[in-house]
Amino acid sequence: MISDNINTIKKRIKLACERVGRNPSEVTLIAVSKTKPVSMMKDVYESGIKDFGENRVQELVEKYEELDGSWGEDIKWHQIGHLQRNKVKYIIDKATLIHSVDSIRLAKQINKEASKKNIISDVLIQINIANEDSKYGIDKSDLEEFLQELIKLTHIRVRGLMALAPYVDDPEKNRNHFKEMHQLFVDIESKNHDNCINEDGISSFDTLSMGMTGDFEVAIEEGATMVRVGTGVFGERQ
Ligand SMILES: *Cc1c(COP(=O)(O)O)cnc(C)c1O
Repeated sequence: MISDNINTIKKRIKLACERVGRNPSEVTLIAVSKTKPVSMMKDVYESGIKDFGENRVQELVEKYEELDGSWGEDIKWHQIGHLQRNKVKYIIDKATLIHSVDSIRLAKQINKEASKKNIISDVLIQINIANEDSKYGIDKSDLEEFLQELIKLTHIRVRGLMALAPYVDDPEKNRNHFKEMHQLFVDIESKNHDNCINEDGISSFDTLSMGMTGDFEVAIEEGATMVRVGTGVFGERQ
C-alpha cells in the first residue's frame, strides 16, 4: 500500500538521477501529508521517510502534538505553504525548514521569533517562477535585492530556493521553469552571501525545493535537491 507507493517514488527518483548522472542521496523526498491523518503518516515513517511537509500551520502544530513520543521524535517538519506573520510563533521551534519566505516582513517576523528562542531558523526563498497572479513568491528580478535585506537578519539562515511550478498536464512544460530556478540557485550560490554561510565557513546555500507528484522527475533532472510529493505517497486528497 503506502510502502508500495514509496518504493515506486524512490525508484523513480533513482531513475531520474541516473538519467543525468546525479546521486540519489542528493535528493530528499518530502512526504506532503496535508489533509492526511497521523495514522497514515506513521506508515510512511515506518517506510523510512522522516521528512514531512505541511502547508497549514494549525495542521502542522496539531500533528506535531498528536505524536505520542513512541515514534516520530526525529521527524523533520517542513512548512511548505504560505505563512502568515501572526502564525510564525507557533512553528518557529517546530519547523525544520520554512520553504515559503515570500516577503521581507515575513522574514523579519521569523527573525524576531527565532531570536526570542535563541535559535537560527533555516529558510528558503519562494520564487514565483512563472509570475502567476495566483501564487505567492517573489519575482526573480527582485531576488538579489531581497537577499541583501535578508542578510541583515542574523537569526535566519538562507538555505536555498523554493518554487511551486504551474499545474500542467505534461511535466515537460515545467522544464524551463526548473532550469531557470537552478540557474538562479547557482548564481546566488557562487556569490557566497554572508548568512548563507555556516560558522565553519562552508556555504549552507544547498537546497533547491521544486517538483511535486506530477513533475518531480523533471525537477530532479534540472537539479532539485528536495521534492515535495503528496498524492504520489498518500494517494488523492479529498
Ligand atoms: C500540496 C503541495 C505539494 C504536493 O502536491 P502533490 O501534487 O500532491 O504532490 C507540494 N508543494 C506544496 C507547496 C503543496 O502545497
